[in-house]
Amino acid sequence: MPKSIDRDVNAIGGGVAGGDAARGADYQLLGADEPPAVLESGRQGQSNFVIVVDHASRRIPARLGDLGLPDPELQRHIAWDIGALAVARRVAAELDAALVAQNYSRLVIDCNRDPGVASSIPTIGESIAIPGNVALSEQEIVARRREIFDPYHAHIRALLDQRLAANRRTILVAQHSMTNIFRGVRRDMHAAVLYNRDRRFAGLVLDMLRREGNLHIADNEPYFVSDATDYTIPRHGEARGLPHVEIEIRQDLLLDDAGQSEWAGRIAAALRSAERAFMGVSA
Ligand SMILES: [Zn+2]
Repeated sequence: MPKSIDRDVNAIGGGVAGGDAARGADYQLLGADEPPAVLESGRQGQSNFVIVVDHASRRIPARLGDLGLPDPELQRHIAWDIGALAVARRVAAELDAALVAQNYSRLVIDCNRDPGVASSIPTIGESIAIPGNVALSEQEIVARRREIFDPYHAHIRALLDQRLAANRRTILVAQHSMTNIFRGVRRDMHAAVLYNRDRRFAGLVLDMLRREGNLHIADNEPYFVSDATDYTIPRHGEARGLPHVEIEIRQDLLLDDAGQSEWAGRIAAALRSAERAFMGVSA
């Protein structure tokens, strides 16, 4: 059966240039009092791991209001990866790893999509129309990229460059969470390990997570990493030849502190074991 490359949300989309004179060349998306687009911690950490969270936040810049969505929609996975940042923070702390996370919602601009693809600024999330993303002017589209997407990826790029210059190894981990019910169908896997062309490290993480026999850990399901549906792993992992893995955890397992701690411990242990095995074979 062919695997879906649908990444849950943003199936259709793309802003349409148009707009009016009020949205002129000086259009600024973020106010001076709003938080930066990038969250970072542990830059000096000793670990080989760098953990990134593309969909860490559901924050919407004030200028965009609620994007025309009712509040419950802004709480859902169409806005962010529920629990992913909480898990990633714990994993990074346990491993002494650097963490870089996006501080604004993927409804503003999806930081795991090439800005050139139509779903970069989604006009539909799952099956919900996103009125605030329809008929955007060129300036509005450019501002979302310039103020949200670009600083995030420039930050990751600079961190990886710095580590390379310092002769440090890097293993890139992209932490996500996925919805438990997608278009009415319940997902039965607890978590998933995803990859594209390079399975070397992801395969080891999968083996380690599957050691707990009572868990269903999917192998490149319910979707996989691709150039069309992803940005972070292809651009920062594959293009640099860095070992990498994308991890999805079902969001309903991450709703409270206990669940987040349990999964962080599990992921950290699996990453550590996979790292040992990887170094063993590549040394
Ligand atoms: Zn995600």
